Amino acid sequence: RALEASSSARAAPTIFENEFSLKDRVALVTGANRGIGLEMALALTEAGARTVYCVDLPKERGEEFQRVEAYVGKMEGKGRLEYISADVTDQETMWKIGEKIGSAEGRMDVCIAAAGILKGDMSCLDYPAERFKEVLAVNVNGVLYTAQAAGRQMAKFDNGGSIILIGSISGSGANQGHPWVSYNTSKSAVLQMARSMACELGPKRIRVNTISPGYINTTMTGQFLEKRPELLEKWCSNNPMGRIGRPDELRGATVWLASDASTFCTGSDIVVSGGHHAW
Ligand code: NDP
Repeated sequence: RALEASSSARAAPTIFENEFSLKDRVALVTGANRGIGLEMALALTEAGARTVYCVDLPKERGEEFQRVEAYVGKMEGKGRLEYISADVTDQETMWKIGEKIGSAEGRMDVCIAAAGILKGDMSCLDYPAERFKEVLAVNVNGVLYTAQAAGRQMAKFDNGGSIILIGSISGSGANQGHPWVSYNTSKSAVLQMARSMACELGPKRIRVNTISPGYINTTMTGQFLEKRPELLEKWCSNNPMGRIGRPDELRGATVWLASDASTFCTGSDIVVSGGHHAW
């Protein structure tokens, strides 16, 4: 039967446009007020998603978000972004958000867990317990609760789905001069979380993968470089492409993983780093 499934010819050949299309799909994206999360939310909308629910910490929509929201509003016949204020570390709230989306839309197709924090630059020998807990709460627990919120709805509607967890090249390596013990530990956990969830949810046709970016120009890296500007040169010289990346350079991997163009890809880590590996 397995052989049959893998060799079953399609009734009619599809063109790339169909396979990559997210027409009518519904998505949940966290950390979507700015940076990588926002860029990914926009990419899903441009690929045809009906509604992209953008979760971020309670605050006014940022300027970056408002600009993208206005742009999406002008895209005729395309979907919309819906902003939800919530903290991903609150499991109950995240599950409720999933349920609300499920009842409003009657489906859940794509989930991107992009909310993350970087608090480090302190020796691993002195790293305070509270800060370690704080980073893991967002980067690990928050990612799990987000995946649960969407995955429970995907399972309920029994229509498959694609969950994308945002890892990092810091999840499989560590850089000298970057005392990021909490961040690196958390991103490593995300890679393993995706593999575990992929094994469990495969029979339900729910795929779970990670995208691991290298250094990308966002507020997160900007704030870090403000304190240690000398590192930019190091990041660029360590990169075969001689530069850091832009958030929009993650769009292709995002749409590919979210769409039917990647239906046999699960438990995988897609590295988008310009060839830079942290170790
Ligand atoms: P940003 O800091 O620019 O954006 C992260 C967003 O997540 C912010 O809007 C932030 O809100 C929000 N957020 C933080 N904590 C929570 C929470 N508890 N609940 C809900 N939202 C929250 O980061 P990036 O866009 O650079 O990073 C996005 C993801 O990509 C992260 O997981 C990061 O680790 C990962 N990544 C980034 C890389 C890079 O070079 N930029 C490289 C590799 C991975 P607020 O503004 O209020 O803090």
